[in-house]
Amino acid sequence: MKELITSIKERILAGGAMTEEEARRLIQIPLTDRDTLDHLIQCANEITHTLSSIDADLCSLVNAKSGNCTEDCSFCSQSSHYQTGVNTYAILSPEKVLEAGRAAQARGVDRFCVVTAMGVLTEDQFEEVIDGFKLLQEKTNLKLEASIGGLSAERLERLKQYGVTRINHNLETSERYYKEIVTTHTYQDRLDTIKNCRASGMEVCSGGILGMGETRQDRLDLAFELAKHDVEVMPINVLNPRPGTPLEHVERIEPMEVIKTICVFRFILPKTCLKLGGGREVNLGPYQELAVKAGVNGLIVGGYLTTPGGPVERDREMMERAGYRIPQSVVGSG
Ligand code: SF4
Repeated sequence: MKELITSIKERILAGGAMTEEEARRLIQIPLTDRDTLDHLIQCANEITHTLSSIDADLCSLVNAKSGNCTEDCSFCSQSSHYQTGVNTYAILSPEKVLEAGRAAQARGVDRFCVVTAMGVLTEDQFEEVIDGFKLLQEKTNLKLEASIGGLSAERLERLKQYGVTRINHNLETSERYYKEIVTTHTYQDRLDTIKNCRASGMEVCSGGILGMGETRQDRLDLAFELAKHDVEVMPINVLNPRPGTPLEHVERIEPMEVIKTICVFRFILPKTCLKLGGGREVNLGPYQELAVKAGVNGLIVGGYLTTPGGPVERDREMMERAGYRIPQSVVGSG
């Protein structure tokens, strides 16, 4: 198996790709075979440092509209379909969004994503979000991102006008398993937004959640689908089961299974920034160090939509220990 891993790595470094059959073999490596897993991690690390980037991509979020979402995503505490007791509020004022952006900047983060809980925003909601971006564009030097649900070509143009350069829109899982997780919109709806983003010239950030009860094949299918769209960033979240949601009692995924999956994702998406996001602290704990050696070169920092995160300084130090550069614009400003 180690010879196979090395030969796939060499092919990828020479500009080739891994086949789906090879990916199926790698994802089956037993967790007890630590020697082979260590080799896989080392090869994934080499691909990351050679073909992706050693500049850590650190991004903070603001939840600019919480809860009362009409969609029924089974993992999400913000869906109005479930009794989760999550804090709910309408769109934050532009001043509040600016305040959150400035706080992120003060913590030493240069990327900032405005997120809203909603399948597709109404016209009024969208205009309120635009007002927030206007202020962020005028008063900060943050790189701006939006994660505001389904987007038409027209809305993408408006966002571009106000400094947004990257759109987050996760596929979450494979097309097969998506139907088990969400029924109020389709996988195709999500692919349409990704295609619109691509056509608009925006960078595309799209990934998923591990540990929702999906199979290893579902995880591979997600990564191969994202590879087709050449996504710049793949957020990798690990389910932190939320009380009241249908996935509340789902069995947790083993940390080493996550690490192995990240390695295989790195082989499938050699140039993409693999960004570890929600659930990393609770599910991976000390294994996060291994994840950043296994191909993760970005982090969502400073907390998530409805759950807290760890200190940004600690995350920056972890990335530096793994050999990544912290973007110059944020060094010393935390
Ligand atoms: S993931 Fe987004 S679209 Fe789905 S229920 Fe949560 S807030 Fe709504």
